[in-house]
Amino acid sequence: MSTEQQAQKKVVVIEGDDASPEAMRPTVDLLKSLQLPIEWQYPEIGEVSQANGEGAFPAAAKAMIDASDTTFFGATSGSSGAALFYLRWGRGTYANVRPCHYLPGFNSPLAKPEGMDFVIIRENLEDLYLGIEGDLEELAHLNLTSRTARKGIGEFGPGKFAIKAITEEGTERVVRFGFELAKRRKAAGLGKNKVTVTSKYNMLSVSDGYFKEVAGEVAKNYPDIEYDTYIVDDFCCRMIADPHQFDVVVMPNLYGDILSDGAAGMMGGMGLAASGCYGDRYAYFESAHGTAPDIVGQNIINPTACLRSAVMMLDYLDFGGKARALERAITRVYADGRALTRDQGGTASTQEFCHAIAKALAG
Ligand code: ATP
Repeated sequence: MSTEQQAQKKVVVIEGDDASPEAMRPTVDLLKSLQLPIEWQYPEIGEVSQANGEGAFPAAAKAMIDASDTTFFGATSGSSGAALFYLRWGRGTYANVRPCHYLPGFNSPLAKPEGMDFVIIRENLEDLYLGIEGDLEELAHLNLTSRTARKGIGEFGPGKFAIKAITEEGTERVVRFGFELAKRRKAAGLGKNKVTVTSKYNMLSVSDGYFKEVAGEVAKNYPDIEYDTYIVDDFCCRMIADPHQFDVVVMPNLYGDILSDGAAGMMGGMGLAASGCYGDRYAYFESAHGTAPDIVGQNIINPTACLRSAVMMLDYLDFGGKARALERAITRVYADGRALTRDQGGTASTQEFCHAIAKALAG
């Protein structure tokens, strides 16, 4: 029995807001055409459940996620955000994996994008995204002194603060995830057997310095894997000037959020950028882009980011054969170049692009 004939898997689908469903629906239709043993489940959340008086993220939706093998998530701008928070913090999905893999046919602005294939791992739960913000005066009693301005926190007058927290556990697990991914990429004949860690460890020597310090300890457990570190602004310059040197790059949350969008731009745009968020017991998959509200209802959104996220999801579910088939179909449609969406310099609608993918899958 092949792995593709395994027991039924449960996949929760949350289509998201604005233009997101226009990319998610045809992607799920293509996945359904693969005839995999997947039960697709659609929880009522956001405006729909709110209209029924059940709140934005009812207990039934949470239970459906808890009983599922994974969730396929569209981008959110509004009330489906509560579900996203649960998928991240509730399910402990600490490693946001964002591949930057160029395929011929992508509308890259780089002179030589061929061969660019690295992965940004964004720590997904900590750093400035803990959401602890407030008025500076709330901190006045703590007698904190600015290392740079050399004055007490109470002397700044009205203003706001945000807490940046880097923990040992949070850093250790995401860096370990990075090394394990580098190992798997090497075993699959990809990658360069290399992990890079980046943060602003010179200026933020305590918090980002700790990220580097803990990462260095983890690296000692992987002596066969090349390891280097760069200050994040230096890394940004190197990523754009010579992306081919990188393999797996691990960084704190905010830098990962920003730099992975930059890396998407280097590939050819947000419409190409996949992501998967992995924890120790759960993972969910979502494209890296937002809800693209400026193109809602036009049938022009590029579903490639969703499709590539779906490839990552199929791998996670152990449907590697179908994942490779979908990957090959995407590669063929871009190499052919006749059915590309506007963001990639083509004139095809979302539907026409998906039609071409379906044909490539069948052929
Ligand atoms: P977020 O902060 O939620 O990531 P954002 O503010 O970065 O969202 P996006 O929704 O990602 O914004 O959109 C940024 C730009 O990229 C918009 O012009 C949008 O139309 C475009 N865009 C995003 N995704 C796609 C896509 N899949 N296909 C085509 N264009 C896209």
